[in-house]
Amino acid sequence: MAAFDHTGKVFVVTGGSRGIGESIVRTLAAEGATVYSTYNANAERAQAITADVAERGGTVHYQSVDVANEDAVKAFVDHVVQQAGRIDGLVNNAGITRDGLIMRMSSKDWNDVLQTNLTGVFYACRAVARPMMSQRTGRIVNIGSIVGLGGNAGQVNYSSAKAGLVGLTRSLARELASRNILVNCIAPGYVETDMTDKLTEDQKKAFSDSIPLKRSATAEEIASVVSFFLSDRSSYITGQVLNVDGGLAM
Ligand code: NAP
Repeated sequence: MAAFDHTGKVFVVTGGSRGIGESIVRTLAAEGATVYSTYNANAERAQAITADVAERGGTVHYQSVDVANEDAVKAFVDHVVQQAGRIDGLVNNAGITRDGLIMRMSSKDWNDVLQTNLTGVFYACRAVARPMMSQRTGRIVNIGSIVGLGGNAGQVNYSSAKAGLVGLTRSLARELASRNILVNCIAPGYVETDMTDKLTEDQKKAFSDSIPLKRSATAEEIASVVSFFLSDRSSYITGQVLNVDGGLAM
């Protein structure tokens, strides 16, 4: 049963071809929204999700867009506005990791992660700001991480980008509040996806054991909070970072 009714709403979700993004796409489409989503390389998977969502009565349109590419992001947002006439919400979910201890981290690994995980979010927010400002309503949800708050050895690039998202979220929330555009950030802890599949079984167990709820999150448990932030039920919340982490970062 759908938790929120998004009938008639138009949402943009970056990186919707796998993991948390796929779950966000499926959740919002099941709740009545028309979803526009992106992938980087996974065209086949995007096609399969499109067909499956359609079979369940929902609508998602995918396009290949590298969020690190300024022109591609702008063109994608323009295309959505042209086709759908509005954008009610943007979910900045696309993200990558290039982990390594600082002595061994290349400048390329630093730059790639910052460009995709932080600058890409800036591009998308700037592109939707104009249509949302003329609508005088809108929602932006950024997918951060608890490592952006507490740090993580081996992830100076990733945690810096996610920490940057906190500043971006709060500044943008202040800038856009007068137009009734709400900007929030969700900080997941440990979610089992391709991104965390690189961990060994021992590392996964140690991580789960350190979480008060003693388990990882499902992607759906992140998607339902995204849906809340896009819904009318969160109309007085802006500039917030909500940890969805089973109590890990208390
Ligand atoms: P994932 O399974 O690795 O999926 C990443 C998604 O982002 C894919 O759809 C991928 O597209 C897309 N993507 C990657 N680079 C892109 C680019 N340059 N342009 C457009 N799309 C791009 O990751 P995930 O675990 O679902 O993570 C989703 C978000 O949650 C990320 O922002 C991540 O930092 C955050 N997060 C995850 C966890 C966790 O434990 N998993 C915890 C905290 C925060 P392709 O399929 O085409 O490659």
